[in-house]
Amino acid sequence: MGNFKLMTLPYEPEALEPVISRETIGFHHGKHLSAYVNNLNALLPGSGFEEASLEEIVCKATGGILNNAGQILNHELYFGQFTGRPAKAAPTGKLGEAIARDFGSFEAFREAFQKAGTTLFGSGWVWLSADKDGKLVITQEPNAANPVQKGLRPLLTFDVWEHAYYLDFQNRRPDHLAALWQIIDWEVIESRLSK
Ligand code: MN
Repeated sequence: MGNFKLMTLPYEPEALEPVISRETIGFHHGKHLSAYVNNLNALLPGSGFEEASLEEIVCKATGGILNNAGQILNHELYFGQFTGRPAKAAPTGKLGEAIARDFGSFEAFREAFQKAGTTLFGSGWVWLSADKDGKLVITQEPNAANPVQKGLRPLLTFDVWEHAYYLDFQNRRPDHLAALWQIIDWEVIESRLSK
């Protein structure tokens, strides 16, 4: 068996209510993410990826190993970016400046990001990433794909698989995406840019 562990959430399961309910956290973290960790650990022996990091696996593996590792990497970035008590409503510092430079304004970025999430067909993820020159880009990735596969540095992500919102918003994906801005920890996102 492999050694990956289910991440510990940096907040209580009810801390993100009413945007994300305790019930959704229970299924999404406690069932879906937990299953991806168990699946990957069961697939690793004999794969050649026993000692690899999640990023290495996501860039080099295929099939079930790629899909489960991708979902773990994506969900660790996703769950790690929220807080029930945001210190800031919008990014500041280097991240705030880069968003204004590359999208015109924070409001324009938010609109473009939300549109990318709303129009992503089927299951997948919308991402804000930095390229090798530090330019910010929004991408839509299907299923378990991650921007590291394109040489990008992932900063912020919205999960648009139905399991992320169905208990709280049913088919209203746009309303769910619009609500997520209330719980983003911009200090976490800024730290990913300067890492
Ligand atoms: Mn998910």
